[in-house]
Amino acid sequence: MATTSRTRSDKYDPVAQDVPTRSWTVLAQDPAVLGAGGKALTTQVRVPAERLEAGPKGHRIHVIDYDATRNAYYKPRETDLYADRYENVRDIAKLVKDPYFHQQNVYAIAMATLGEFQSALGRPVSWGFTSLAPQLKVAPHAFADANAYYSRESESVSFGYFTGDSGDTVFTCLSHDIVAHETAHALLDGLRKFFLRPSHADQAAFHEGFADLVALFSVLKAKEWVELGLADIADRANLIKSRDLDFESLQQNVLFKLAKQFGREQSFVRGDALRHSVTLAPSPAWLDHVDYQEPHKRGEILVAAIVQAFLKIWCKRLQPRGTDRGLSLNCAVVAEEAAAAASELLRIAIRALDYLPPVDLTFSDYLSALLTADLQLYPDDSKYDYRGTLLASFKGFGILPASQGRPDGAWDPPPEAAQLRYQGLHFEQLQQDPNTLFRFLWENRDVLGIDRDAFTRVTSVRPCVRVSSDGLILRETIVEYVQTLRVFAHELNAFGIECPKGLPAQTVVPLYGGGTLVFDEFGRVKFHIGTGVRSKRQSARIQSLYELGAFNRDVGEQTHFADLHRRRMLGGAGHPQEQW
Ligand SMILES: [Zn+2]
Repeated sequence: MATTSRTRSDKYDPVAQDVPTRSWTVLAQDPAVLGAGGKALTTQVRVPAERLEAGPKGHRIHVIDYDATRNAYYKPRETDLYADRYENVRDIAKLVKDPYFHQQNVYAIAMATLGEFQSALGRPVSWGFTSLAPQLKVAPHAFADANAYYSRESESVSFGYFTGDSGDTVFTCLSHDIVAHETAHALLDGLRKFFLRPSHADQAAFHEGFADLVALFSVLKAKEWVELGLADIADRANLIKSRDLDFESLQQNVLFKLAKQFGREQSFVRGDALRHSVTLAPSPAWLDHVDYQEPHKRGEILVAAIVQAFLKIWCKRLQPRGTDRGLSLNCAVVAEEAAAAASELLRIAIRALDYLPPVDLTFSDYLSALLTADLQLYPDDSKYDYRGTLLASFKGFGILPASQGRPDGAWDPPPEAAQLRYQGLHFEQLQQDPNTLFRFLWENRDVLGIDRDAFTRVTSVRPCVRVSSDGLILRETIVEYVQTLRVFAHELNAFGIECPKGLPAQTVVPLYGGGTLVFDEFGRVKFHIGTGVRSKRQSARIQSLYELGAFNRDVGEQTHFADLHRRRMLGGAGHPQEQW
């Protein structure tokens, strides 16, 4: 959206003007990816038109430009806060040298990512901080290191800088995908804080794989970037022959080429996850392959399954545009369809978070959640068959839906639904009060299979209103409860859980269980997704934790992304027992 001349004034206040959103110029990918004539490849992202203070500091993001390595604080712009000064700047050197642009780039991409989550989920989304602070602190030049990470403890996302192969300083805060990736970690932690606890190998991989998906689709939504990838297969008139628009060609000639650009300079930070994901051949063997037990590598399987579904959907979207008739298509049209497919898949991927168990996630759970999330909002999927394509793509990697009772792979309504008691459950309280929900669990603990010996608590109650592009309105309340039970290793067998060979009998083993209850607009349970603390799944989880060394030493309560990302820099080197 073009910025109007009104925004150039210091006095312009979008809140007072009641403008709902504003566009900010950001880099489409990173400074190494240039457009025609070596010019900066920028794009515009739209974020809520909020009141801003110097930073930028808004109601959810506070950019604090403090450099711990140099013990220096870089002052933010104090005036003209609402002006996008970079809309027409195409000199990449100028953008790289301008710290104010760095600050704008991280603010706008982080806010746009937050906006994407809120829009997909149909409700405001909180950060995962125990202080319940409304603002995520973002440090664009936090330290001199080839790293970037989210930290729940410091309620921040930190971006490092380092000297690249070219000898120039590389700023991770200028990589669109790195900013989106780190913001996705922070958002996912706000939605599912137990996903950072050591668990099944899939759960550890999920945080990384999901953040990579958000990063990739956020960048793919920028048509400018996709058009750059299409340049090699377009003729002088910007037309592309239909034979160059099939799955293999788009995979090899376009997406692979684009994925290679991820981290050309920042490969220390990014690793090669996205490039690997694009070309990873579908096979059920990867899940058990020794290399794919490490969280980042395993995350590539999830990304590969969804990226390859994206490619198929992109092809399907091009057919009615002319490829089914052998017509050549304009570059802009091909890029537009990529952006549309990326945008829709990103929303499905985010919306699926609401249909996941709160603990002990597996890729199969996520597949059922994806299918359920889309089915709820788009019952008719016949046009492009997103769900069938996702199902087939995951199957190619040996991932079957966790809900196997129905052919579409979505979650089933709970079999115990008819026996549930709703006494004392008032609809308004159900939408907001954890104690009301705890009473519901209390009254229905036997029906829902809630363990009496475990400590049970309701961890979130989230009403949401989702609207499909067809105008369908979906009102749901998402409730999570978590159960904890600490037992000695020698007690595991009595619980029906296999004790890993070699685990000392007096080792304290924490068992986590719990469920997600999805209530419909009438306050009735639609889905109950989760596992109990004594479920058979615990055997695989405990074995996985034992193999990862979780019982060998004092293991923190959560994953630390600084370490995880540093390990990614090293290519996942090291013994698997050192991963947690
Ligand atoms: Zn990460």
